[in-house]
Amino acid sequence: MGYFKTHKIDDDSWYIMEMLGVGVYLFLGEDRALLSDTGNGYMDIRKPISKITDKPLTVMNTHGHADHAGGNTQFREVYIHPADLPMLDPAFQQEQKDLLFGYVRKNKPILTPALHFLNTRKFERFEPSVKTFEDCHRFDLGGRVIEAIHFPGHSPGSVILADRSAGTLYAGDAINQGMFLFFTYSPTLSEYASALRKLAQLEGFERIRISHGTMEFPFGFIEYYADFLERATLEKSALTDIPNGDRPVLKYAEPGERYGVPEISVHFAKENLGD
Ligand SMILES: [Zn+2]
Repeated sequence: MGYFKTHKIDDDSWYIMEMLGVGVYLFLGEDRALLSDTGNGYMDIRKPISKITDKPLTVMNTHGHADHAGGNTQFREVYIHPADLPMLDPAFQQEQKDLLFGYVRKNKPILTPALHFLNTRKFERFEPSVKTFEDCHRFDLGGRVIEAIHFPGHSPGSVILADRSAGTLYAGDAINQGMFLFFTYSPTLSEYASALRKLAQLEGFERIRISHGTMEFPFGFIEYYADFLERATLEKSALTDIPNGDRPVLKYAEPGERYGVPEISVHFAKENLGD
């Protein structure tokens, strides 16, 4: 079984998922291709990409977390929203990787040799030139435009990609069925719910795709998740062992059958609950 698995969404849109549970999106236009995120970067993601296209590639990050920007060093130029620029600092990226490794060593020691293997792979890397884009940026691929909409919360510079012609939002980690909103920079759950309700006013979209899975959610999930966040309370939440480094992480969950997932959840810190 390969480390990367490629899923075709349509003739010009692909999802490449890593064995570690995160994926990147590849959008093809007439002139260029756009790569949304670069994954953890343990293996050479340029290989599965080269099997799909040889068009010139624009590379961007939906946000700066290490499982989305860890492969940036495989490319010469990468775009990111300026508010997440500090996260590309190599020390911060390493800190995030160390947290993940520490978690695996403690909870799934059987996987430690596999992680060591991944961590020592050698292939051509660069120090990419990092460029920033504004709050509503249009990536013009020739005959196809993918818009990046700034949607802070999961991180200060998180963006959602909008493919208007297909009616699809590619949310990165800004929306999914188990959001992480426990960081020191995370908003309160009700602030995030308000932002989601505004996003839900967008017209012309039918579905949402996420970074951590091949599933597709109907557009109405945005409103549903906003309601869900308002139901989270301290009493109904449980402590988790997610490594955050700063403060304890709680989880609130409800059954998720109606969206074809085992559960809908939010991970947050007490401080993100608000008053
Ligand atoms: Zn993330």
